[in-house]
Amino acid sequence: MDIFGLDNLSLKLLIESLKEDHLNPTINQVEWKELEKSFGHKIYPEILRLLTQMEFEPEEARMHWHNVLAHRKNLKKTLGRDAGFRVALCDYFINIHPKLKNLIFVDVDLFLQKERAALIDELTGLYNRRFFNRVLKREIEHARRYDQLFSLLMLDIDNFKEYNDIHGHQAGDKALNEFAQILKQNARLIDHTIRYGGEEFAIILPRADIKQARLCAERHLRAVETHTFSGQERLPLGNFTVTIGVATYPINAQDGLELIQKADEALYIGKQKGRNRVVISSDERRRKFRYPLHVEMLFRLRDSAEKSFDRGTTRNISQTGMLCQTDEPVEAGRMLEIVLRHPFDRSELNFIARSVRLGKNPEKNRSYFLGLSIELGSEKEEKALEALGACPRIALFQQKS
Ligand code: GH3
Ligand code: MG
Ligand code: MG
Repeated sequence: MDIFGLDNLSLKLLIESLKEDHLNPTINQVEWKELEKSFGHKIYPEILRLLTQMEFEPEEARMHWHNVLAHRKNLKKTLGRDAGFRVALCDYFINIHPKLKNLIFVDVDLFLQKERAALIDELTGLYNRRFFNRVLKREIEHARRYDQLFSLLMLDIDNFKEYNDIHGHQAGDKALNEFAQILKQNARLIDHTIRYGGEEFAIILPRADIKQARLCAERHLRAVETHTFSGQERLPLGNFTVTIGVATYPINAQDGLELIQKADEALYIGKQKGRNRVVISSDERRRKFRYPLHVEMLFRLRDSAEKSFDRGTTRNISQTGMLCQTDEPVEAGRMLEIVLRHPFDRSELNFIARSVRLGKNPEKNRSYFLGLSIELGSEKEEKALEALGACPRIALFQQKS
């Protein structure tokens, strides 16, 4: 697996901290909890492979990783100074747990340089489209898993061709760079500011709803509007301006491609309306409507050898998820086979769902509320969702029960 494919900012932070040797035990624990949560145990072999070029199974890698951290602490005690992470790693794999015959340690600086070159736009220092694609994919996954939303701003500088024509390409480059720095300065720390291509930019706003995204877009718009770009008075609007289209996942779109399309459409409308404005994608998907549904539900882990099903009762259902009550806790992130049983004719509706939340039932001991996200992906699953979406059978359940 390509570690870049994981594409996680905290992974980058981690590598930065390895470089800086700032891994103190508390920060380290927090980071590793976060990373484990995001990637599971596969993060350990990945990071060791990255740093030492050795392959380990997840459990073994996890053990080595924590041993190295402990070894670093021991070294500190013995030596009376912190020898740093890299020395601890090296000493561990050479002397404590000899694994390395031909010493291959990846130069973290070189690694970071390469990574930078692959993901950063040279002219502006912003992330490039390659990074954008990865981060967008990751945000979608994150939003799906945690039932959250995020927004995308697409920005296109107004009349930039004219600016180039009047002032020359070099002046154009300088303006592009200035523009990029304005975006950077006005972004939140968690936002991803990207040069999408040419004079087009994108900003991904994690966890931002439509209202927050609008405020953010307006902040950027105003910052550009009030900045004085050299020679801007000769542009058609007498000012150097930008038009911004905004779309929010999953309100306006169901996947990354659609989200870009929706933000682009909004941007295009902004251009038509005269530029220098923010336009929100108005094409909202039908809001998720949850309706109460109390029917018997059977479920079991999809990857389990255990053939028997556990029981639960549904509480409510929407097109993309449902809430159930059960005595059997299921941790979040597990794939489940679900069977809903019609209360009268006992006909069954089968589909796959992912557990996304588990909470205790406050009214009953050893009873839980289990939040399920109905999984899209395979044709079979989509058909199951369609069946739920169209809802004739569910409606029947409701009428009769
Ligand atoms: P609109 O308001 O409709 O967006 O008009 P526009 O002129 O900005 O749009 P158009 O897409 O026609 O022109 C974009 C221009 O951006 C054309 C191209 O020469 C210029 N451009 C793209 N990339 C660069 C670059 O890296 N440096 C410079 N100097 N100019 C660039
Ligand atoms: Mg353009
Ligand atoms: Mg333009």
